Amino acid sequence: MSTGRIIDGKAVAASIRGELAERIAELKAQGRRVPGLTTILVGDDAASKVYVGRKQREAKEAGMVSEAEELPGDVTQEELIGVVREHCERPDIDGVLVQLPLPEGLDEAAVIDAIDPRKDVDGLHPINQGALFTGREGPRPCTPLSCMTLVESTGVDLTGLHAVVVGRSVLVGKPVAMLLLERHATVTICHSRTRDLAAMVGSADVLIAAVGRPEMIKGEWVKPGAIVIDVGINRVDGKLIGDVEFEAARRRAAHITPVPGGVGPMTVATLLRNTYDSCLASQASGAPSPSPS
Ligand code: NAP
Repeated sequence: MSTGRIIDGKAVAASIRGELAERIAELKAQGRRVPGLTTILVGDDAASKVYVGRKQREAKEAGMVSEAEELPGDVTQEELIGVVREHCERPDIDGVLVQLPLPEGLDEAAVIDAIDPRKDVDGLHPINQGALFTGREGPRPCTPLSCMTLVESTGVDLTGLHAVVVGRSVLVGKPVAMLLLERHATVTICHSRTRDLAAMVGSADVLIAAVGRPEMIKGEWVKPGAIVIDVGINRVDGKLIGDVEFEAARRRAAHITPVPGGVGPMTVATLLRNTYDSCLASQASGAPSPSPS
């Protein structure tokens, strides 16, 4: 039996990073300012530390200015917002990323609201989510945009195809549905109250799974020839497992992302690209450059 082509997120991400590194080297050669990214990590969640470390490392490797703030888990809301604002005001910083989730007791929405929308390279500020909803320019959320890059890497035209998104979070499900709509797909959003999820999934030419439940989408539900993007990251017995039953789904799909090695590596590359775009926008708007040190 034939099996679906694996969409290699690592390879697509590496090519984006390579292209960015070249463009950043060109900026430098022209004597222009290179992009700057600040990551803010609160507390000592092990997974968050790994994600932030990767963002830092890849930003540096691409030639960006890379700043890391590490704050204790008992930081106050006001202190955290103060640090966010301080970095947003820096002329050498184009992107400020607060690693989510925040420890309990901190108000994520209030912290995101404190980010300057022009430096919100995660695309989560309500102004940027509103820009996405209304079809205006602005940074798009990294994970949803990564899903789109992977779908587009298959070369399939989405016009008129049925895209089914499982999950309706602000971080993934809702924004990816809007991005699919922008590409002229017909979009259905499913969630925990959806009736007959199997039938919904079975009608999907493009399936985006963003639930957070290991292998809850059965391979036998997948429409033959579908594109399957698995956003889920679930740790089971020390292994990373997606939301889709990979081997069984692969026997029916035309293209499928693995976990790990699919959406995960793409998210950082997309973050760097958003930071680069933010830097160019800032230079085009004539924002003051930092004095050379
Ligand atoms: P979330 O906020 O917990 O949202 C999960 C969504 O799944 C909710 O909308 C929920 O529906 C829905 N859901 C739960 N059980 C369901 C069921 N039985 N049937 C249908 N839908 C169901 O999660 P998230 O932040 O969107 O993340 C989703 C997954 O993606 C997680 O595994 C996360 O770790 C992963 N993730 C990966 C990346 C990456 O870079 N690869 C980035 C972000 C997130 P209700 O709204 O009805 O509760």
